[in-house]
Amino acid sequence: MKILVINSGSSSIKFQLIEIEGRASLGKGIVDRIGLKDGLFRFAPAGREAVERTADVADHRAGIAVVLDALTDHATGIIRDPAEIDAVGHRMVLAGPSISGPVVFDEALVRLVERHTRLAPLHNPPTLAGYRAAAEVLPAVPHVGVFDTAFYATLPARSYVYAIPYEYYERHGIRRFGFHGMSHQYVSGRAAEFLGRDPADFRCVTCHLGNGASVAGVKDGKPVYTSLGFGTVAGLMMGTRCGDVDPDVILYLVDTLKMSATEVRTLLYRNSGLKGISGISNDMRDVERAADAGNARAALALEMFAGSAARHAAAAAIGLEGRLDALVFTAGIGENSPRTREMITSKLSLLGVSVDREANAVRGAEAVVSAPGAPVPVLVIPTNEELMIALETRDAVLGGRDALARLGQAGGAPTAS
Ligand code: ADP
Repeated sequence: MKILVINSGSSSIKFQLIEIEGRASLGKGIVDRIGLKDGLFRFAPAGREAVERTADVADHRAGIAVVLDALTDHATGIIRDPAEIDAVGHRMVLAGPSISGPVVFDEALVRLVERHTRLAPLHNPPTLAGYRAAAEVLPAVPHVGVFDTAFYATLPARSYVYAIPYEYYERHGIRRFGFHGMSHQYVSGRAAEFLGRDPADFRCVTCHLGNGASVAGVKDGKPVYTSLGFGTVAGLMMGTRCGDVDPDVILYLVDTLKMSATEVRTLLYRNSGLKGISGISNDMRDVERAADAGNARAALALEMFAGSAARHAAAAAIGLEGRLDALVFTAGIGENSPRTREMITSKLSLLGVSVDREANAVRGAEAVVSAPGAPVPVLVIPTNEELMIALETRDAVLGGRDALARLGQAGGAPTAS
């Protein structure tokens, strides 16, 4: 079974064709800078040289056409006919608490995603644009929405209800959702597998540190803690998002500085985080370089980023009720920034966590980065959200329930609906 996984951002479409039986990626790529000048297309068929070229792509519809052309290209493609694609799995973010597993797309799901756009303004519009474009070009195959929030469907109420009057949860559905579910699900399962541990008896804290960042506590395959909340802005400081701020700051922006809701949203989502503090960039590489060159605000941004990750990792560890079997780093920064990993773990020595300088030099590969014999192993596990999406898509299409089992995780497999 071949599943095309699509991850649409506002100006990019990442894609990957996965052969599900062997968990094998047949090829992956990206259409980048959609709607901008100097668009770029990159496609890497498995085991062959990558193709890279400029491609001015006006919108997501044109982007998906480029993807299909590349997949079926007689010289560089990996399938002969689009009909070889059995299903398309779309990485989705938020459509509310009714989502507890992968969902086959229909108009009702589109409307549900649209209704939740206010809480995921950076994500819901481009993911829907990607779905619409792909559904147009591949109308005969099932399209499945795989949601970042679904993993958290089993969070206990004490973890998702906010301490505001209860009727705001009951009447208005204001609650914590949690995001990056596919990533936390994948790396927690893979960490157990990597350490030769039984995933049904494995407690870990997973740090997904990318442009978006979050920490989860995962006990026996199920989440018990997430740093993310109602929207996608809470918890850790991120590339452009603020993470936790005192709600009074927001009231002050509105009441005293007379900022509109739109202005506040832009400030919190787009102009804060690493970018807002450093004044340089939302990209960790730029911030690290600037800090090395003596820029004090860049150095402050690094300290704040590590501090917020460590605070949430400690909170997540509390949720594991007395035992921490591993601390896991993933995503762009988590996989590639030894400095950030060291800064975070050095604040967590109370938990028995530390890195070994030499082992921690690793970038982008599975590894134990703590010293041999350390009380709590610290791991780098490159995330593979695409594989998780493909497995969930398969389950939704075939009505199976073994996506988690395939990663060796026990119980709690999301329901296909
Ligand atoms: P997202 O998928 O949320 O857009 P990624 O997981 O791709 O984000 O992570 C992007 C982040 O990873 C950026 O801040 C980038 O600077 C950081 N990153 C990538 N490579 C490195 C590296 N070698 N050193 C430090 N940070 C890195």
